[in-house]
Amino acid sequence: MSNAGDESLIIVMRRDATAEQIRHVLDRLSEVDAEAHVSEGAHRTVIGVLGDRTRVQQLPWEAFPGVERAVPVLKPFKFVSREFQPDDSVVMVGDVPIGGGGLTVIAGPCAVESRDQLFRSAEAVHAAGAKILRGDAFKPRTSPYSFQGLGEKGLELLAEARETFGMPFVAEVVDPRHVELVASYADLIRVGTRNMANFTLLAELGRQDKPVLLKRGFTATIEEWLNAAEYVYKEGNHQIVLCERGIRTFETATRNTLDISAVPVVKGLSHLPVVVDPSHSGGRRELVAPLTRVAVAAPADGVMIDVHPAPETALVDGAQAILPGEFAELMEQVRALAAAMGLEL
Ligand code: PEP
Ligand code: MN
Repeated sequence: MSNAGDESLIIVMRRDATAEQIRHVLDRLSEVDAEAHVSEGAHRTVIGVLGDRTRVQQLPWEAFPGVERAVPVLKPFKFVSREFQPDDSVVMVGDVPIGGGGLTVIAGPCAVESRDQLFRSAEAVHAAGAKILRGDAFKPRTSPYSFQGLGEKGLELLAEARETFGMPFVAEVVDPRHVELVASYADLIRVGTRNMANFTLLAELGRQDKPVLLKRGFTATIEEWLNAAEYVYKEGNHQIVLCERGIRTFETATRNTLDISAVPVVKGLSHLPVVVDPSHSGGRRELVAPLTRVAVAAPADGVMIDVHPAPETALVDGAQAILPGEFAELMEQVRALAAAMGLEL
């Protein structure tokens, strides 16, 4: 956790700074036990620093050869801030990028229920152009009597679908004790809305190297959400994708209220990619297409959509799942809108 003794600083190197001058700054940072994150932009190198205030401030950074300026980061979240890293982060999920000017479509069933259900959904979303498969083996349910997921069997089925369709997959981890298990199968590990502020889980995910999809807590402010991402980043895992999935408001006509403003606001505050989940936001099948269109136009870096071959039989979230045919139609609209926004699909 950040405390009063922490200092974070961005050291911007001059355009003509030499490798030796950069090395010199890094050596001095290491002498004062500060963490340094080097980001090599197209024109200049920027060094993000986190360390003990009194020790970091001892050194006259702006007097160092090759340093243009040293700017303190005033936000409570540091590493994930745009000040810290001006360029967009691109997160690789298997061989699929999220962020950096593209639109990545993630789709599949909410939960893995059976091999047949998963494979029918995976085949359809793959054929329609989705790049990442979704499907959960562990479900955080409001009622303890509801279906909780197939556990490891579900992960095995997802791994089999990955082989069959050549798509990496995302799955949720609910319990910090399952991080290793889920990480041993999944290409992208999701933290659900109910666990956004589970700081032990976040830190655990920060200490392994699979990328993390961090959903916004349904009662979390944007600042709280970015602080949650900071927990993961700070532990060493920088592969983080944020997911806006709707927040709880006074409105009851929708499951949650999609906070579309969060997309441009977060992209201004942070370098991390942001995707939108139109399924869990609206909670209703007929809202999935309009909310997806809005997300693409925002533009978000991706969308994650629930698709089920027979939603009326779904064990979880049937009301918001769209059919394979509906997904294929929606993908046509997504392609047209992405082209209009200059996004690569
Ligand atoms: C989900 O994506 O299946 C899910 C449980 O979402 P959320 O955590 O946003 O409710
Ligand atoms: Mn769901």
